[in-house]
Amino acid sequence: MHVDRRRFATGLATLVLASGPAAAAPTAAGAVSITYDDGLPSHLDVAVPALERRGLRGTFYVTLENIAQRIAEWARLPGRGHELGAHTVHHPCNISPFDAKTFADREFRPLDAWLDRVAGPGRARDFAFPCDVTDLGAGTPNVQRARYEAMLRGLGMQSGRNSEGPPNPAAWARLHPFRLQALAIGYDATPLDVFNYLQRARAERRWAILVFHQIGSGPESDGAVTAVQHDLLLDMVLASGLATDTVGMQMRRLASG
Ligand SMILES: [Zn+2]
Repeated sequence: MHVDRRRFATGLATLVLASGPAAAAPTAAGAVSITYDDGLPSHLDVAVPALERRGLRGTFYVTLENIAQRIAEWARLPGRGHELGAHTVHHPCNISPFDAKTFADREFRPLDAWLDRVAGPGRARDFAFPCDVTDLGAGTPNVQRARYEAMLRGLGMQSGRNSEGPPNPAAWARLHPFRLQALAIGYDATPLDVFNYLQRARAERRWAILVFHQIGSGPESDGAVTAVQHDLLLDMVLASGLATDTVGMQMRRLASG
């Protein structure tokens, strides 16, 4: 769906104003995590400063390939309270030819080793599925997904996030940590969709997870939002009354609650 950028921004501003000032939000009122996929330069240049201006912290699901050029800057994010999650080494979308061991060795272990170095062994171990695909290896969809989840658990992963579905009930996230649902912004999601998604999380005390890709102009135009739209969406998050936290912190909270 094509979203006219000026109308998108105007719509967001209206919704932010309509939702009123942020109230102090207990965790029981629901939560929201702000996530960024693919390890893009605009995340360092635009998203991190925009988050930090507001006292927010993001969860960045990176591919080792994409962050290689500015890896020293990425390595500093955990020290500033942001979370780095895994999104494989090369972002493969066709994974049925892989067996689990080859897939883990090629797409997970090199990135895991780097994450251990920069974020420490006690780091959160969260993952986002590239292209939302779970059909690892041969067999039926259920067999393929079970194989993928077993591989992730074997690697010590604590959660896996896709890019669609309603806000997560706490019981769902506890029972299916590798089926975290999220809303991908800029593809089919209009400002009203984002607003309704956050309001539903608030009303039903669920966990909302937003997914950003490219911010501003850049090589990846699919799912891109402008820096202004990104700013307004962060303001909408602040105004939503939801508690904000990284995916790893929220998973820990659910585990202890
Ligand atoms: Zn991706």
